[in-house]
Amino acid sequence: MSAGKPARPAGIGLYGGTFDPIHSAHLRLACALRDELALDSVRLIPSGVPPHRPPPHASAVHRLAMARLAVADEPGLDIDARELAPGASGYTVDTLAALRREVGPSRPLWWLIGADQLAGLDRWHRWQDLLTLANLAVAARPGFGTLPLPPAVDALWQSRQATDFANFPAAGRIRALTLSPVDVSATAIRADLAAGGDGLGALPPAVLGYIRRHRLYRIESI
Ligand code: ATP
Repeated sequence: MSAGKPARPAGIGLYGGTFDPIHSAHLRLACALRDELALDSVRLIPSGVPPHRPPPHASAVHRLAMARLAVADEPGLDIDARELAPGASGYTVDTLAALRREVGPSRPLWWLIGADQLAGLDRWHRWQDLLTLANLAVAARPGFGTLPLPPAVDALWQSRQATDFANFPAAGRIRALTLSPVDVSATAIRADLAAGGDGLGALPPAVLGYIRRHRLYRIESI
């Protein structure tokens, strides 16, 4: 038996969002996180009523059901419904703190956001605690690559870049995914569905079938 350093426990990817509805860009991002960081699992975490944004259009029950359908055939992608539980605060920092307690101090956590979210990170509740709990993976998003970041976020972005790819810490580092920007948004998909379209061809077939069966995102609900 080798007497080398014990292997670092496998990291876990975490991906929160309203997923209203879940679409192909969400899935491509989650798979890129899994594959680029060689993670065993990525947990998608549908949010309740997000503190920073208007309420979602579809109910929590529908968004959760669609997310479950979307990951059913994707190895390593799972759904974590904790933010939909009664009494959940809805703040990412609380979700990350609970997950950190569950997995212990040494397991790398990777929390994934799009570049649009990075630009507003300094408005998140206790945002400076986020990187004490997890690493951050950022996906490029069309329209958000060239805007200057707020100075405090930019300082974090510059100083926390992950370079030692073989040995990620449990928390505290930032990494940009290499995935090319994917020009898909739930807002555009909802508008297309309301106009009678198929969601711009960006919905997994099982999700589109669910939307049609439950008559979601019709003109009167947008
Ligand atoms: P909406 O149009 O309703 O705002 P959204 O897909 O941006 O939809 P969420 O479902 O909350 O909203 O997104 C979850 C996460 O995925 C966020 O971090 C968001 O930045 C990111 N994201 C969503 N779509 C893309 C995309 N095309 N490219 C990069 N990141 C994305």
